[in-house]
Amino acid sequence: MTPQRMAIMDYLDGNTQHPSAAEVYEAVLRKFPTMSFATVYNTLRILKERGLLAELSLDPAKKRFDANPAPHHHLICVNCRKILDVMRPFDLSLPQDDRHRFRILGNHVDFYGICPRCASPEPAAKPGKGR
Ligand code: ZN
Ligand code: MN
Repeated sequence: MTPQRMAIMDYLDGNTQHPSAAEVYEAVLRKFPTMSFATVYNTLRILKERGLLAELSLDPAKKRFDANPAPHHHLICVNCRKILDVMRPFDLSLPQDDRHRFRILGNHVDFYGICPRCASPEPAAKPGKGR
């Protein structure tokens, strides 16, 4: 485990922002100015392979990473693309007819909406942009 890897893991530990690879890179660069984007990207890939990190495809603009490996759902602002965790479990049993003989391993619900910040008369985030 290199100090660079440690810095990446430190940044992700308890992080609920669902950062993109570029955002992780920006954050760890402050501590390790010589860090390469390849190191960040490879570390994210390894953490993902080990099940410590989930890759989200909710944001069409960029892949985002979820540092919470526990199963959960998401609340997404369609304006600023803020992603919040929904830890409440739902009973989403799929009727037998719709299972096509699959053994169901899990599910993921995305709730889309407008966050309070984007709904306010003078939004701080620019429409269509943000993180
Ligand atoms: Zn928003
Ligand atoms: Mn999450």
